[in-house]
Amino acid sequence: MAGNRKDYYQILGVSRNASAEEIKKQYRQLALKYHPDRNPGDKSAEEKFKEAAEAYEVLHDPEKRRLYDTYGHEGLSSTGFSGFRDFSDIFRSFGDIFEDLFGFGGMGGRATAAQAGSDLRYDLTLDFLEATLGTEVTIEVPRVIDCRTCGGSGAKPGTQKVPCTQCGGRGVVTRTHGIFQITTTCPRCQGMREFIAEPCPSCRGEGQIRDKKKLKVKIPPGVDQGTHLVMAGEGNAGRFGGPPGDLYVILNVRGHEKFRREGQDLRLEAPLSFTQAALGTRLTIPTLTGSRELVIPPGTQPGEVIRLRGEGVPYPRGSRRGDLLVEVRVTIPRNLSPRQEELLRELAREEGNDTQTSRQDLNTGQAGQSEGFLKKIWNAIKSFAP
Ligand SMILES: [Zn+2]
Ligand SMILES: [Zn+2]
Repeated sequence: MAGNRKDYYQILGVSRNASAEEIKKQYRQLALKYHPDRNPGDKSAEEKFKEAAEAYEVLHDPEKRRLYDTYGHEGLSSTGFSGFRDFSDIFRSFGDIFEDLFGFGGMGGRATAAQAGSDLRYDLTLDFLEATLGTEVTIEVPRVIDCRTCGGSGAKPGTQKVPCTQCGGRGVVTRTHGIFQITTTCPRCQGMREFIAEPCPSCRGEGQIRDKKKLKVKIPPGVDQGTHLVMAGEGNAGRFGGPPGDLYVILNVRGHEKFRREGQDLRLEAPLSFTQAALGTRLTIPTLTGSRELVIPPGTQPGEVIRLRGEGVPYPRGSRRGDLLVEVRVTIPRNLSPRQEELLRELAREEGNDTQTSRQDLNTGQAGQSEGFLKKIWNAIKSFAP
């Protein structure tokens, strides 16, 4: 129980020698005043309702009241009573006493026949462009629906249901417990009130069958791997008037040959030869909706990223789009023709770098172009040769 140990008589507003009838009357008033159905979302009413229920639970029970009168709150620990955690705790404890005493229902204290249908999951794989640009897909979802023959009742059409003999069709049974009547769900019919005399042949009395339903799923543009789309009411059917569950469509998005998603941005690698990077060029690059020309300025460096604003993936809500990031990859030729090699050597000499003998020392910061790695090894071997 919580630390605040208020006096139970004070909570109910009765004197210490109040009669059982006074206690009951006072509690009834407080419970009516602070009942959660009448004070939705009101925290202080909730607290007062719980306090009153706790006080009543103790004071209406002659043994608990005697222990409380003699030893205070400590005296109750031997009875296993520790207050109520929440409303369902209170209502479970009091059963349908609220209905009997006050004329309105409790909360969850009584099993009702209606059951909500369960939620379903459907995994849907989309192509990269379908996910980024949006599409509409028709899926076929296996699920539980109301039986078409009996309309969900489970009874053979034309036959009648028979009322439960134990509860007389009330769905609940009432026991007398001291001054209280405790009402619980009928154990025989489980609150169903009646039994099927002749089961429906299509569903064998279940009221439900498995079926497949075709559904159109609208995929908004810009969805990504793992996005959940919720289709309300498209899950399994409820039972006995309960609402249907929801369908969760979980998206799996295939990769793209050229584009990579980074949130709503797209990354694209643009391979350039080193002369293209050095001299500048015009490239035709793919975009989400086609292609466009991109000017590579002279002196573009490897790894440099050119950002094309608004050429990325649309945001699912709104009209904004991410960016397209073009990352420059400079490729070094592996096999040079004699003419190409001659031109490159000339370029190297122009840079003041004799490629036949050049070495670069990064420690001293000595100027010069770096040699190819293999060339370096070859030079090293030669210097050790006899
Ligand atoms: Zn049926
Ligand atoms: Zn029954």
